[in-house]
Amino acid sequence: MRTKLIEKPSSRSPKDIDIDNMCSDVEVLEYECPCGKGKIVEEHDYTPGFREHDVNILCNSCSKKYTLDLKKGVRNWELIEK
Ligand SMILES: [Zn+2]
Repeated sequence: MRTKLIEKPSSRSPKDIDIDNMCSDVEVLEYECPCGKGKIVEEHDYTPGFREHDVNILCNSCSKKYTLDLKKGVRNWELIEK
């Protein structure tokens, strides 16, 4: 099961963007969780020497009820009921 991608407002000031670019190059995608109280966060870190691709359920009730199936890769995660 896939959930809806949360569109993030691009309201950051140029100052914030400069600081982020100096530290790392991280892509973060946020999705709604099944109950709607929390979210699912997919992170892709492209910082040289520190490449990390991860996805987590940031919701107390959904993290107990569901697990993430990453057999097809982090970008193709599927929520499955435990
Ligand atoms: Zn939830």
